[in-house]
Amino acid sequence: MTTTVVCIPGDGIGPEVAAAMKTVVQTTNAPIRWVDAPAGAETLATHGTLLPQSTIDAIDRCRLAIKGPTRTPKGAGHSSINVELRRRFDLHVGLRPFRSLPFPQGTIKDNVDIVLFRQNTEGFYDCREDVDLGPDGPEVTMSARFTALAMKRLAESAFLFARKHGRKKVTLITKSNIFKKWGYVYRNAFDMIAANYPDIEHNVDDVLIDAASMNLVMSPEHLDVIVTENMFGDILSDLCAGLVGGLGVAPGANIGETHAIFEAVHGTADDIAGKGVANPMALILSAAMMLDHAGYPGEAVRIRTAINEVVGSGHFVTGDLRKLYPQGTHLCTTKEFTTAVCWALHHS
Ligand code: ATP
Repeated sequence: MTTTVVCIPGDGIGPEVAAAMKTVVQTTNAPIRWVDAPAGAETLATHGTLLPQSTIDAIDRCRLAIKGPTRTPKGAGHSSINVELRRRFDLHVGLRPFRSLPFPQGTIKDNVDIVLFRQNTEGFYDCREDVDLGPDGPEVTMSARFTALAMKRLAESAFLFARKHGRKKVTLITKSNIFKKWGYVYRNAFDMIAANYPDIEHNVDDVLIDAASMNLVMSPEHLDVIVTENMFGDILSDLCAGLVGGLGVAPGANIGETHAIFEAVHGTADDIAGKGVANPMALILSAAMMLDHAGYPGEAVRIRTAINEVVGSGHFVTGDLRKLYPQGTHLCTTKEFTTAVCWALHHS
């Protein structure tokens, strides 16, 4: 049987890393059939819309998609396609694993193995911003929604994951000393789910986002599975990516009850787009997550092993990771890195 997966190349370095990812998946011989679908700022120019109905229909039909980054301008301009897709398909779990790779020079911290569960569909990412002219100039009013239901569903996914993967502890991160009602609602919902998982440890005292950020930098080995709200999850994702080598190596998934969309944590990296030097590792590792989800765990493991081999060999490094290799190491292109991974797969 073949599994059909929608592939959205996206903007910036998206098409380059998506092509690399497809080559690697094809090399595993996993029975994946790709349906290419457009979305992003470049699609706006060609199709007159950021997210064509045909793309939405394809995701709806296949229930499985992998996407490259799509551009969201800072400040004014169009809203995020990711936020729209997460909302539309109720992809309420943002799942992001951060694992140390065997870089020759090591990373900021070795032995990081953290899995972050980010609430993906509510909070500040789903709030209205109203601008008024007040007595002292422009004023923005925001009103965000945080529901017990969303935290229950997220916590359930995190505890289930912890049990399935033999993880020891789930930690809820909030800002309950300032946002007391929101903190109370999320805490209560989390505790209700935690009570059903006596075999998994969880934090009884609140862990605040500020303290958690410092702990992650100083002693990440104390954190195992993290559960947190949408915006905190976004910020902690980049922090955790920094711990394991940078945005070029951090994969991710957006998962709902029926649909799932896999994507790297990084954005469009416009500064290097079109130059053939982007690191495709994050999207390739996202594809491994997709293969796990689609029922091809053997192929997923082979991809992770091949990546570890290539990283550990010290011979193939894209520019974003140059600091993790000895000075003077030859920097490779996206294609060279991809070929090295495929070569490792052929010999696995
Ligand atoms: P966004 O707002 O969409 O998150 P951003 O510009 O803030 O985008 P990214 O595009 O994710 O952030 O990346 C920031 C920088 O990190 C890029 O400019 C690029 O130099 C580097 N970078 C990110 N991803 C990669 C990658 N896959 N390969 C190489 N460099 C990368």
